[in-house]
Amino acid sequence: MLKAENQSYWLDRETGRLRIPVHGTEGIQIRLPLSEWHRSFLDDLSRELGSLTLVPGKVLLVVRKEAPTPYNPLSAIAVDTNEDSLDGVAIEGKASRLLTLPLGGVRSVQATHFRRRRRLATKKANDRRIRRNLLDREGRRERNRVKQRLHLVSKGLVQRARALKGAIVLEDLTLHGAGSRSRRMNRRLSSWPRREIHRQIEYKAGLAGVPVIKVNPAWTSKTCPACGARRRDRVGKEFVCLMCDWEMDRQINAGLNILKSALASNEALARAVRFQPGALRDDVVIPLYDLFREGEGAREEPSGVELGETWRDTV
Ligand SMILES: [Zn+2]
Repeated sequence: MLKAENQSYWLDRETGRLRIPVHGTEGIQIRLPLSEWHRSFLDDLSRELGSLTLVPGKVLLVVRKEAPTPYNPLSAIAVDTNEDSLDGVAIEGKASRLLTLPLGGVRSVQATHFRRRRRLATKKANDRRIRRNLLDREGRRERNRVKQRLHLVSKGLVQRARALKGAIVLEDLTLHGAGSRSRRMNRRLSSWPRREIHRQIEYKAGLAGVPVIKVNPAWTSKTCPACGARRRDRVGKEFVCLMCDWEMDRQINAGLNILKSALASNEALARAVRFQPGALRDDVVIPLYDLFREGEGAREEPSGVELGETWRDTV
């Protein structure tokens, strides 16, 4: 409906009074209802106001903040991004631990909404307009419910990495594997929650000064981190190396390879940590929530996250 750059509107950051001049002395005035969460952004004067967009039912306001320079990492958390969890390893100095970060049942949320949408589509098959509206609403609800779960995870991960002065290592989802894209890669690229959790981790890490290292995901699920041998056939739930006696949960195994790639490409990190996969052979995988609790910032925001983040993402 309308888009205004920051010189062409006026917003009182305290009261939420918004004025957009339209023609001469005429203009529109809107009082934006500000929640605590909105205020936390507007009160922080280091955040500049960017463009403003009006669409039916929404006012979208961009806030900008310069990201601090990332610190030099002394440790790392490397994870493989899966449908229902992030899996990999946390490494600090010479000590490393296998870990998994459940995404809070994102998959079952998606499945529930998928069934609900299908039911709606059959039930309201006669009225296209109503069906469209109901389906859109279902879609929005699903995305919000998924986002909210992902926010808890991305926030916890970034806080934990920061407490460890660690880098976060992820696969670069925009790179394809060697040669043509594998089926696995295609699936990953088409998965919205995967892209979304990466997006969240990256912007939160950026604001917190936590370095994020992204590595090429080619072969991460098919390589033995202990001896480097690759499997060219399908890998089951467990990765079993044919050359040495290495065995590891496939997803965790991919996380270990992601860390290895990062160490190979990032000198600062390679100097700071020592990674010996062999030492992890018999380790138990711990849920990262336990790690969060050990670190500072185990505090969770019970509510407001969904609304707030929606506001920030779109606004
Ligand atoms: Zn091996």
